Amino acid sequence: MDAGLTVYAKGRFSRYDEAKIGLMTHALHYGTGCFEGVRGFWSARDEELYLFQLEEHYERLHASAKILMMKVPHTVAELVEITTELCARNNFRGDVYVRPLMYKSNEEIGVRLHDVHDELAIMAMPFDRYFDATAGLNCTVSGWRRIDDTTAPARAKVTGVYINSALAKSEAVLDGYDEAILLSADGHVSEGSAENIFIVKKGVIYTPDASQNILEGCTRKTLMTLAVEQFGIPVVERAIDRSELFTAEEVFISGSAAGLQFVRAIDHRVVGDGTQGPVATKLAAFYDRVVRGMEPAYHRWLTRTYASRKTATV
Ligand code: PMP
Repeated sequence: MDAGLTVYAKGRFSRYDEAKIGLMTHALHYGTGCFEGVRGFWSARDEELYLFQLEEHYERLHASAKILMMKVPHTVAELVEITTELCARNNFRGDVYVRPLMYKSNEEIGVRLHDVHDELAIMAMPFDRYFDATAGLNCTVSGWRRIDDTTAPARAKVTGVYINSALAKSEAVLDGYDEAILLSADGHVSEGSAENIFIVKKGVIYTPDASQNILEGCTRKTLMTLAVEQFGIPVVERAIDRSELFTAEEVFISGSAAGLQFVRAIDHRVVGDGTQGPVATKLAAFYDRVVRGMEPAYHRWLTRTYASRKTATV
């Protein structure tokens, strides 16, 4: 992280290197935090930084916080306002990643959720790409299972739960793959280490439903909406078996950081002909237009960083 970036911490804007937390911070030891990952897309044409689905991400932060018995100190609207100010103060003129974090901040021993103070921090930083994979991703089905909701809340974006993703990701990458696909405890396809997953068969998109211990991704919802509204492609949410991954015509994954990435191969089986299929190609191209403000029908998903500041200060 660039030490000079402006962040929002403990209720005010400060430099990244001045916003410190103590070594005994509860969340650092017990994973008692929850967070979001939001993308901002720069439009040179509009001289604008579009924050994508900021409200949807902050609604999910509120939901995660509730599960962790936390109280977010701001409404969704206030968080949107703080975030646009943060990005404007950093004067970003390129793509960004925004990382809001709620964390339990007491500096003491004792694992629990109740009677611990919560803090909010929001960091924003320049961001290019998560995967460098124009040729598609080489994936493996992980030996690690996706955390089950009976163990820890899969639908909350909880810091501690990310050890599950980290184990799977490192196993996959150190074995020579780009990404891991995790099965749920009962053996159905759940998701990638930080992405939701889709398969295409005979013109229909299938994706694991919300009861498959997935994080209900904002990008997942977006792609499902675009598939139906823009291209008339049916989307079915249902349990998916491992071997269906091998026989699908297309497989792709989605996430705020990753965008839409097609999968080239899974455990040495080439998906389709190994290139980006027609459904992924259409959706990826349209998604790219939506996030950069080129599709007026979907402007409702965008928050303008600079225009909204002007309106706020006039
Ligand atoms: N699953 C997991 C475990 C993730 O970390 C992410 C990234 N937030 C996703 C799915 C995709 O969610 P989104 O599209 O909201 O970024």
